[in-house]
Amino acid sequence: MKIDNNCCNICSFNEFELIKDKLRDDRVKYKVYKCKECSHVQLVPKPTAQEDKEFYDKNLQDKSRGKDIDYNKLVANNFFDTTRHVELIKQLCPDANCKILDIGTGYGFFVTELHNQGYKNILGIEPSIQRREIACKYSPAMVIDFDLDNPSKDIGKFNVITLFHVLEHMAEPIMFLRTIKKFMNPNGVFICEVPNENELLLDTCKSYNDFYWIRAHLNYFNEKTLLACFKKAEYDNVQIKYQQRYGLLNLCNWLIVGKPQIDCPVFEVDGEYKKTENFYKQQVESEGKSDALIAIARV
Ligand SMILES: [Zn+2]
Repeated sequence: MKIDNNCCNICSFNEFELIKDKLRDDRVKYKVYKCKECSHVQLVPKPTAQEDKEFYDKNLQDKSRGKDIDYNKLVANNFFDTTRHVELIKQLCPDANCKILDIGTGYGFFVTELHNQGYKNILGIEPSIQRREIACKYSPAMVIDFDLDNPSKDIGKFNVITLFHVLEHMAEPIMFLRTIKKFMNPNGVFICEVPNENELLLDTCKSYNDFYWIRAHLNYFNEKTLLACFKKAEYDNVQIKYQQRYGLLNLCNWLIVGKPQIDCPVFEVDGEYKKTENFYKQQVESEGKSDALIAIARV
């Protein structure tokens, strides 16, 4: 099907196949389509820059908007991802003097933990005022608002750039990756994590599928389309790693109750079921059906 004034965010083709006719949070304007040329999945129509600005200025993507932030609870709920991301940095760039840029820092959990682990040369970028203020209040790392396309000052180049669950929000993902490349040092590493559109639960659980598609996500990547995006942005050396974030209890909750564990998501079980959970995670990762994908790009 051709859709007027809309083309694929990756290959610019203009014929699509409908994937989902209702989003979780906007049941009128937007639908999810797959490009018939490169199979990239995206929101159609593409929101304008003004529509996205209003969406984020009103903080409409935030589940906790309008409520007081319980910082300690958020730290606890993000502990698994924070630790996992810091471990990845320690593995890929053990030199604690390296210069790190985190784009989309949020409340600053990752940059804070990096700092605690000895990495002192860190800059976080966070456009949301509410999140940035909280990050600045609690984090020893510097967190600023900064437009990478129109730099207001020289922030230099970086040995490590991280982009965790941000690329799927970008209207122009290829241009965004090209911009990021300009801030990388030679031999630098760029780590980009996104949800995986080939996730097992999407195919096996209808309530999860109804929950999955949201207004904030303009792109839904799988290994093939994420690699195509990086290739178009002229990255030559990109590896993909599959990463299962959510564990067995979350899986059981979806299959039995059909709802997310919003207040207290469980990423890991302790004790006797730990081995079973590790087996489950390794299994979906080896089949390419994990809930997240990590691109590791070197320049
Ligand atoms: Zn395409």
